[in-house]
Amino acid sequence: MVPTYLIKPHLQRHYPTVQYAKGIYVYDTNGKKYVDGCSGAVTANLGHGVPEIIEAMKEQANKVSFVYRSQFTSEAAEKLAETLNERIGGETRYWTFLVNSGSEATETAMKIAIQYWQEKGKKGKNKILSRWLSYHGITLGALSMSGHTARRERFVPLLEDFPNVPPPYCYRCPYQLTWPSCQWRCADELEEAIIRIGAEHIAAFIAEPIIGAAGAALTPPEGYYEHIQAICRRHEILFIADEVMTGLGRTGKMMGLDHWQAKADIIALGKGLGAGYTPIAATLVSEHVIEPIRNGSGVVMSGHTLSANPLSAAVALAVLQYIDQHRLVQKAEEIGSDLFTKLCRLQQKFSWIGDIRGKGLMLGIEFTVPDTKTMMPNKWAFTDIVVTKAQENGLLVYPSAAGNGKDGAAIIIAPPLTIERAQLDELVSLLEEAFHHIEKHFPMKGNG
Ligand code: PMP
Repeated sequence: MVPTYLIKPHLQRHYPTVQYAKGIYVYDTNGKKYVDGCSGAVTANLGHGVPEIIEAMKEQANKVSFVYRSQFTSEAAEKLAETLNERIGGETRYWTFLVNSGSEATETAMKIAIQYWQEKGKKGKNKILSRWLSYHGITLGALSMSGHTARRERFVPLLEDFPNVPPPYCYRCPYQLTWPSCQWRCADELEEAIIRIGAEHIAAFIAEPIIGAAGAALTPPEGYYEHIQAICRRHEILFIADEVMTGLGRTGKMMGLDHWQAKADIIALGKGLGAGYTPIAATLVSEHVIEPIRNGSGVVMSGHTLSANPLSAAVALAVLQYIDQHRLVQKAEEIGSDLFTKLCRLQQKFSWIGDIRGKGLMLGIEFTVPDTKTMMPNKWAFTDIVVTKAQENGLLVYPSAAGNGKDGAAIIIAPPLTIERAQLDELVSLLEEAFHHIEKHFPMKGNG
C-alpha cells in the first residue's frame, strides 16, 4: 500500500495502527499492548473508552450535532459555559468562547486582549509578550507567541517576535541564582521588557503556568506568578494563562495557576477539555475584559465554523462531570506525588537523569550527558531515542524539549488521571527497562 496519509512529524517512519484502547491501555492491530504514559499528547485525561462519555456523545448526536453559532445556541454549550465558570471562576466570572484546538484558544485569547484595548480607545496596545521555552500553538499567531525555537525557525519571517522573557528554569538558572534569594530575577525581566518596548504597545503577557512541550514541566517557584501578576497590573497589561496542558486537574489542582495566588484575565483551555473524545477548546474571558467589548462593538472578532458545536460541547460537559464525580483533581495530586517519588528513585539508577520536576500528573524528566549537568547535544537525538525505545517496550511517553531549546533532551510522563496506584509500578518498570536498554545500546560517553 502506498502511504498517502500524512502523519506528523516523521514521514519516513512506520507507525503501528491502533486497534482499540481501554483505560490506560492502547492496543495495536498486531495485538501489542501499550501503557499510555502520556495520555497521547497529555490529552486523554480520563483514559480511553469511558462509557459515560460515549453515552453523552450518543445522546447528543441523536438530538443534534451541529448548528451554526450565529444562528443558534444550544443547551450543551450554555451548560458547558456555566459549568466552566462555576468550576474555574471562584469570585471572578469567566465568559466562555468555544473553539476546536489549543492553538485556536490561545490565538483567540490574543485577539480578545488586543480588542479589549481597542474598545478602551488604546489602539496601540497590540503586541503580546511571552517567554522563551514556551509553546502556545502551531498557527501563525500562536506560533508568534511561542518561544519554541525548533517550531519557529522555518517561519521566522512571518512571525512576530513576542518571546522576550526568560523561562523560570531553576535547574539551569541563567543568573546562577537560587530561590528564594533570587527574588524572582527571571520574572523581573518581564518588567524590563515592558519598559524597553513600552507598555503603550503591549496588550498582554501569556504564559503556561507549568511549561509543557517546550520545557518538560518547568515549574516556577512559589511567589513567581504573584510577582508576574503584580508587574502586569502595574503596567496595565492583561495576563493570559495558557492552561491548554495544565488545566482541568492535570497538575493536581483544577487550574495550573491555582498552585499560586494569582488570577488570569484570560485563560486558554484545550486538550483535557474534550479529553481526546472530541476536538474542543475554549478561551475563558473574565468579566472585566468582556465588559468594554460588550458595551462597545458587542462582537468578539474571532471564531470558527465548528465553534460551539453541540456535540463537542456535550462531550466536554460530560468530561467535567466525570472529573468531579471521580475526584480526579485530588487523585492527580495524590497519585502524582507517588509517581514523583518513584521517578526520583529511578533517577538514582541512571547517571544521565538530570532533573525530575512538575506537579500532579504532569511530570518532566530532563536528561543530561552522563555524570554531568551538560545538556544532551542535539545531534544525539536523545529525546527521540527515549520515546522510540519506550514505545517499542510498550510505553508511550511524550517528547519534550529542555536545555536551550536546541540542545537538551526531555520527556513528559502524564498518564490519564484515572490511573490506579497499582498501575504506576507497571508504568515505571516499563520505563526502567527502556532506560536499561538505552544505556546498553547507546554509548553516550564519548559519543559527543
Ligand atoms: N498551548 C499549550 C500549552 C500546548 O501544550 C499546546 C499543545 N501541545 C497548545 C497550546 C496547542 O494546542 P493544539 O495542538 O490543540 O493546537
